[in-house]
Amino acid sequence: MSSQQRNPGDPARRSNAPSPGFDTAAIRTQTARSPHREHSVPVYLTSSFVFDSAEHGRDLFSGDAEGLVYSRYGNPSVDELVEKLCLMEGTEDGVATATGMAAMFGTIAALLSAGDHLVCSRAVFGSTSQMLTRIFPRWGIETTFVPPGDPAAWEAAVRPNTKLFFAETPSNPGLELVDIPAVAEIAHSAGALMVVDNCFATPWLQQPARLGADIVTHSATKFMDGQGRVLGGAILGPAQAIEEVRFFCRQTGPSMSPFNAWVLSKSLETLSIRVDRHCENAEAVAHHLDAHPRVERTRYPFLDSHPQQELARRQMRRGGGLVTIDLPGGEEGAMQFINALRMITRSSNLGDSRSIATHPRTTTHARLAEEERLELGIRPATVRLAIGLENVEDIIADIEQALGKE
Ligand SMILES: *Cc1c(COP(=O)(O)O)cnc(C)c1O
Repeated sequence: MSSQQRNPGDPARRSNAPSPGFDTAAIRTQTARSPHREHSVPVYLTSSFVFDSAEHGRDLFSGDAEGLVYSRYGNPSVDELVEKLCLMEGTEDGVATATGMAAMFGTIAALLSAGDHLVCSRAVFGSTSQMLTRIFPRWGIETTFVPPGDPAAWEAAVRPNTKLFFAETPSNPGLELVDIPAVAEIAHSAGALMVVDNCFATPWLQQPARLGADIVTHSATKFMDGQGRVLGGAILGPAQAIEEVRFFCRQTGPSMSPFNAWVLSKSLETLSIRVDRHCENAEAVAHHLDAHPRVERTRYPFLDSHPQQELARRQMRRGGGLVTIDLPGGEEGAMQFINALRMITRSSNLGDSRSIATHPRTTTHARLAEEERLELGIRPATVRLAIGLENVEDIIADIEQALGKE
């Protein structure tokens, strides 16, 4: 592997060639062809790579030669995915991980030490909040949780030992937003790095690094795969921070499988058109359900009724594929609605071509205390709809017939 491949967003490299457009980067960033001249890149299912000579092996290990050694360190399928993601997010460098949670864990474990402090949005993915409240404190890393939408609260939470800000925007399932430029500026004046989990928006809708954030993390399991097949994650950011992350990941082993990287790299070729269709369908569903007589409340970032609509339009291209609703009749009403769905799947995933309905209170957020859930806007009656790519008339018809049954 050349150093260029390792550092795809390197400014020196960027100045050599005009940077490709978003879709061109997603489609034409490819590992070099083999002697077979295949058009679509094959998957490199190999755990290790061959040394030309004993001396070559020595030089690869000492760093005197550049090249692939072992798939925990680097693999053509995985490196291709990382190179694409860097171009799509506008970051210098990156590391791919086995899951989204490995990306969240790897970022924090690589960059923080005992005695360090994080400021984190209280509206983060369930496992992220469990990791920060139940695992990292055992190693002396403390977190203060803040309301995502209030930059003053982020500022007030800063301590002399604050090293990292962690945000997820839009949040799950409340669809609350963090003002990325404002909060990144607060992080930087505190000498901290700003991390954004960009899983819900994807780089097509929002590019946190271009809005001032330092590190972008992903669960590639969701919209990036887009068809509910594989798990994956990524950590993308400036070369210096990613060097620390790469060292940590090499030694501790949360590497992405080459097969999953190959699936994800192919998926990215259609990311923008898929995410646009998710948004188009979700916008139609959100407008249909907003002020619907059988729905108490509809949340969607680009609805006029969303309290942060103006911020959403400033930092996102479109509103995303998630619509969150509150139904009349409390938890029973929500359960009845979910049970009455005929096409939309009952599952906990999202970002799939198939529409999915989830009851956050009893599934994804069941581990939280009721008070914490209410702070996140998760009520007994809340249902998260991850709008898929089916014909939107069929999605709305299924929702309508299920609402009619209450
Ligand atoms: C799913 C998800 C994760 C965790 O990703 P996995 O791939 O399931 O490990 C992290 N953050 C967000 C916002 C997610 O939706």
